[in-house]
Amino acid sequence: MTERRQLTIQGTVQGVGFRPFVYRLATTLELKGWVNNSPQGVNIELEGDPHTLDTFASRLRADAPPLVRIDTLQQVNLPPYGYADFEIRPSVTDGQKTALILPDIATCPACLAEVFDATNRRYRYPFTNCTHCGPRFSIIEALPYDRPHTSMKQFKLCPACQAEYESPLDRRFHAQPNACPLCGPHLELWDMCGRVLATHDAALLMTVEALRQGRIVALKGLGGFQLLVDARNGQAVRRLRQRKHRPYKPLAVMVPSLESAEDYCELSPVEVDLLQQPAAPIVLARTGKRYTLAAEVAPSNPYLGVMLPYTPLHHLLMAELGFPIVATSGNRSGEPICIDEQEALARLGDIADVCLVHNRPIVRHVDDSVVQVVDDQPMLLRRARGYAPMPLMTDVEAGVLAVGAHQKNTVAVSTEGQVFLSQHIGDLDNAATLSAFEQSVADLQRLYGVEPTVVVHDLHPDYASSHYAQLMTAGATSPDPTGRPRPRRLALQHHHAHLLAAMAEHHLSAPIMGVVWDGTGYGTDGTIWGGEFLRAEADGSCTRVAHLRPFPLIGGEQAVKEPRRVALGLLYALLGEAAFEHEDLSPLQSFSHQELSIMRRMLQQSINCPLTSSMGRLFDGVASLLGLMQTTSFEGQAAMALEYVATAETEAVYPFAYADGVVDWEPMVQAILNANESIAQIARTFHNTLVQMMAVVVANEAQVILTGGCFQNRLLLQSALQQLRHLKINPYWPQQIPPNDGGIALGQAVSIKKVYACV
Ligand code: ZN
Ligand code: ZN
Ligand code: FE
Repeated sequence: MTERRQLTIQGTVQGVGFRPFVYRLATTLELKGWVNNSPQGVNIELEGDPHTLDTFASRLRADAPPLVRIDTLQQVNLPPYGYADFEIRPSVTDGQKTALILPDIATCPACLAEVFDATNRRYRYPFTNCTHCGPRFSIIEALPYDRPHTSMKQFKLCPACQAEYESPLDRRFHAQPNACPLCGPHLELWDMCGRVLATHDAALLMTVEALRQGRIVALKGLGGFQLLVDARNGQAVRRLRQRKHRPYKPLAVMVPSLESAEDYCELSPVEVDLLQQPAAPIVLARTGKRYTLAAEVAPSNPYLGVMLPYTPLHHLLMAELGFPIVATSGNRSGEPICIDEQEALARLGDIADVCLVHNRPIVRHVDDSVVQVVDDQPMLLRRARGYAPMPLMTDVEAGVLAVGAHQKNTVAVSTEGQVFLSQHIGDLDNAATLSAFEQSVADLQRLYGVEPTVVVHDLHPDYASSHYAQLMTAGATSPDPTGRPRPRRLALQHHHAHLLAAMAEHHLSAPIMGVVWDGTGYGTDGTIWGGEFLRAEADGSCTRVAHLRPFPLIGGEQAVKEPRRVALGLLYALLGEAAFEHEDLSPLQSFSHQELSIMRRMLQQSINCPLTSSMGRLFDGVASLLGLMQTTSFEGQAAMALEYVATAETEAVYPFAYADGVVDWEPMVQAILNANESIAQIARTFHNTLVQMMAVVVANEAQVILTGGCFQNRLLLQSALQQLRHLKINPYWPQQIPPNDGGIALGQAVSIKKVYACV
């Protein structure tokens, strides 16, 4: 008896060798019919006896290629048709777009072997790829994922590549970026005026020479430009820092091999695994004792951001060099990374010495991702290449646009049951990042065909993302000129969004308690929050159960770059006018007399001294009081210094007070001022005290979420986890989504169902 079945499959099924796999499986089982791609996923029709059809369905899951992820599989029985054979049919392009776009994937072992095989036609070809690896998100212009919808469309396949592309049994069957030295993109080395110095392999070898000589190379990579320099050469790294205006922020390093990574870092098994994954992220690993790189790479930092080569181009470069290189974002400080050659000449012209480019266009910028391992679990700190735009499956309404926060901005759109979180965009401080933000919003909407009915933004009225949402929804009661109704607009409190994001990631439902500690976020009372204990309620609302005792932030935003202002604010809250008598303290010493008298007046008259309950700022203030840091050049610098100096093994805790939902740091700061112990001892005791503060507030909970930028601090997170487990409380923390503001858009997106429920 012959049956005909129609299978509709959703998940990661395009661009991963799924159709050739289906073809091979169907022909092996002698089933007839066809398979094709659609914007929803993959459709299959099969004819054969029912038993073989069942075998097909079970082997479809069991034997699928490594990158395939089947989320749903629907089967419908149809009357027999009488197919003569099994074929791969052209893709269909209509209907709602729910197929997954894959992230860019690191070079697979098979392709790597070809690139280094002198007899292979792709020997030393930097753009080698197959259905198991290569560019995806960075080259896709539209769905479905077919060559004419990618930036490879301008390259006509040569007969040999065309044959691979058409052969269902080939590893490159429908590998959309398929290319070879004859028909594909090629390299050119330019000087910073755009003059061609060399092409093809000669360009690569000349680049290697430039790096050996300590020169700075702008490399057009996978998702944008990178700036490269010899990581062993302190003078060269210093020059890069000066030109990039990035004095202290740690720089990431690319190493030639895993063995080399182990020369410089102490890697745990989880870290080794992470480095080798298809996403090939930057892993923040503890530096080793064996070899060291130039101190300028990551000054005063016990961790090194390290990654392995992830494209054939990187593999070829690193194999020639044989030593680690700094590989940092190709941007000017604070701007998004360049993706285009001309843009790179203009923006990186006074940073790099030469520019290694190629003619495969990058459709959108995708930075390198950053991961650290805490409690043997990976924790994404920057989610971009290798991860974006994989969706998060959750209970969410379709048609939501979430515009994120201000720093480390990401945006998100939703379809039914899925949130698509954009790649890392950056801080929305300048025109270049703002335009990258606007492009990402348009890009996600277009790719997934989402016309937003609701726009969610941060409660902060002055965030650029909030302004954007306001403009977009202006005149929401009247339709726009095209006749479409304008989307509704909703503002969500910053820390509530942090909490919802972590809940969504772990599929947790309200009510649940969250410890949300971060830098700053606008509170519902108009003050600046950041040391929050929030309960997400079942009706979608949020209760502020407890918070740090507020203190004045002298100069508001200005204080974020000056921990000494925070310290002075703490002292003023503690001692009043007497604070100014402590001239021996580091923060006071670092100010001039004139500055001090200005700040005194600001405090006395409450001029531009907003109150804050921020935990991030408390870290800054204590770092300043201990003389670790008075001004900073990047966010989190002072808090990191305090974490890294806390090396003493002690379980000591400073006194603190907790009453009426206010956690009072006064006894602790008082104790720190009077302390005679070492800085290492004080810093560690400070961390211990914060963990105790947390424990006192959440003591009666069954489960607790820890989130917000402060939990990027490993010592704080690890100690908090230990304490919660000791109290028999189940801890959760963000792992796939950054705990910092990079996760805010997800929280905003999933808030929608909840908000509707309680209106
Ligand atoms: Zn491959
Ligand atoms: Zn070719
Ligand atoms: Fe935040």
